[in-house]
Amino acid sequence: MNFEILKKFLPGVRENVLLKDYSTFRIGGAADFFYQATQEEEFLKAIKISRELEVPFFVLGRGSNILFADEGFRGLIIRNNVAGMKIVKRLKKAVKKEREGRAHYAPGHPEKYLQFSDLDYSQEPFDTEIEVSSGTSLQPLIQWLLKNGLCGLQWFAGIPGSLGGGVIYNIHGGTKLLSDYIKEVTVLDNRNYLKKVKKEETSFAYDFSQIQKEKSIVLKANLLFSRGDLSRAKFVYQEWWQRKLKVQPQTNCLGSTFKNFSLAEVQKIGAPTGSAGWFIDQAGLKGKIVGGVQVSEKHANFIVNLGPGKAGDVKKLIKIIKEKVKNKFGMTLREEILILPPQKKLF
Ligand SMILES: Cc1cc2nc3c(=O)[nH]c(=O)nc-3n(C[C@H](O)[C@H](O)[C@H](O)COP(=O)(O)OP(=O)(O)OC[C@H]3O[C@@H](n4cnc5c(N)ncnc54)[C@H](O)[C@@H]3O)c2cc1C
Repeated sequence: MNFEILKKFLPGVRENVLLKDYSTFRIGGAADFFYQATQEEEFLKAIKISRELEVPFFVLGRGSNILFADEGFRGLIIRNNVAGMKIVKRLKKAVKKEREGRAHYAPGHPEKYLQFSDLDYSQEPFDTEIEVSSGTSLQPLIQWLLKNGLCGLQWFAGIPGSLGGGVIYNIHGGTKLLSDYIKEVTVLDNRNYLKKVKKEETSFAYDFSQIQKEKSIVLKANLLFSRGDLSRAKFVYQEWWQRKLKVQPQTNCLGSTFKNFSLAEVQKIGAPTGSAGWFIDQAGLKGKIVGGVQVSEKHANFIVNLGPGKAGDVKKLIKIIKEKVKNKFGMTLREEILILPPQKKLF
């Protein structure tokens, strides 16, 4: 695709933009084209034009779960900066929502691993519906909710993603999943139809949403919260974040590299926890360096970029980790981060 042609249809598009500047890992070569949408119309237009002109494109949130390739991306990166939240209504009757699944949270040794059980509690029935645009960053959203007396997202303290990325991955905080709070999601499907998908009509699980599988794009989500015990929610938010800061790196990294194992999986081998970090630690890999990246000294399920890190180094390190854990425990780690190839039709 010729840049001048694309620019005619999509004013504001840029060329040769370094992707490392848009990933919390600070790794990644240049994308051919890059566009930031701040209004929903711009976001929709960029997607539809890419499809019409057959330009491969990729929807980017805050880049906190993506390893970009050293070769960058051959196509258009559409960065979703469409932010906004509003209270839709107060429910006449509060609803107690059943949990459809639990995050695979297993604490491990109390001195070495993050402890959560003393902060965990069942959320009060939901009484308020909120609408949130998918490009909204999670931390300002949580702060806005607490300021408005709304509890629920305190469990997601410190996660640097956008709401859209959160829905796609059904992110987890402590024992909670984001889907515990979802009522419905507005998406653009892969045939350019706008659809409202009720939570009951789709399936959410740990690190999974049907929306992700169907390659739909999240535009906004309606979420349910409660005007519950606000001081407890504020305490959990601060305390959980402080605990994470102590045992997890926060900069020059993505989140957990690998998914935790389910309790059923670990019971088979009698391991004390499903925490992927525990397995990597036991395999003696904490602090292991390959090129410019390292298995974090703070938490073995995080890989940190020491500065000059390349995607190639990360891939080599992932291979070593998977082999060592497989040899020692017979268990195959599965990546939680997305490794974006330079050339692929993704949506
Ligand atoms: C320090 C740190 C701590 C973290 N802690 C946690 C944690 O506790 N729990 C947890 O679950 N995760 C955690 N993460 C991982 C990460 O923040 C989450 O996965 C987050 O939801 C990703 O959101 P994002 O906006 O950054 O998505 P991106 O990384 O930009 O994108 C991730 C995926 O989502 C897709 N996507 C993004 N927006 C949309 C959209 N609107 N429509 C369709 N697809 C979209 C992208 O195409 C891509 O496939 C952490 C990350 C870091 C760096």
